[in-house]
Amino acid sequence: MLNLSQSAYLSLRQHGEETYPHECCGVLLGRFDDIGSQSVLKTVSRIARCGNTRKDSPHNRYSIDPRDLIRIQREGRERGEEIVGFYHSHPDHPAQWSSTDLAEAHWFGCSYVITSVEKGKAVLTNSFELTGSDEADKKFVDEKSEVV
Ligand SMILES: [Zn+2]
Repeated sequence: MLNLSQSAYLSLRQHGEETYPHECCGVLLGRFDDIGSQSVLKTVSRIARCGNTRKDSPHNRYSIDPRDLIRIQREGRERGEEIVGFYHSHPDHPAQWSSTDLAEAHWFGCSYVITSVEKGKAVLTNSFELTGSDEADKKFVDEKSEVV
């Protein structure tokens, strides 16, 4: 379960419109709350935009510079925020994860938010949680998300 602040939601969708026809990407910052029966609620208070380091195929691939990630993680900790997920856009493609998205996802328990951007306008925003215990059995499951 993922809760997005209104500003985080609008901001990540706007990012996808700005970088169209290329993919945008960034990090979701906030907190994890245990809500019982092995469920975790992630609340996103802020997003951190990242540059897409994929110059070879930026329309359908994204990659976050590891140095950006370390900086964002450090700045988040100073504010009491954790990395709870990642977001990217799919220009003129559905808001569904691809096999490449799964292969390149490594943060178990985190949310992967995908926004479809059609002809420059953000359409659907979906969230998927990376579950499993290791690279061999990892998978994405549909995750309920709300804008709060
Ligand atoms: Zn993707």
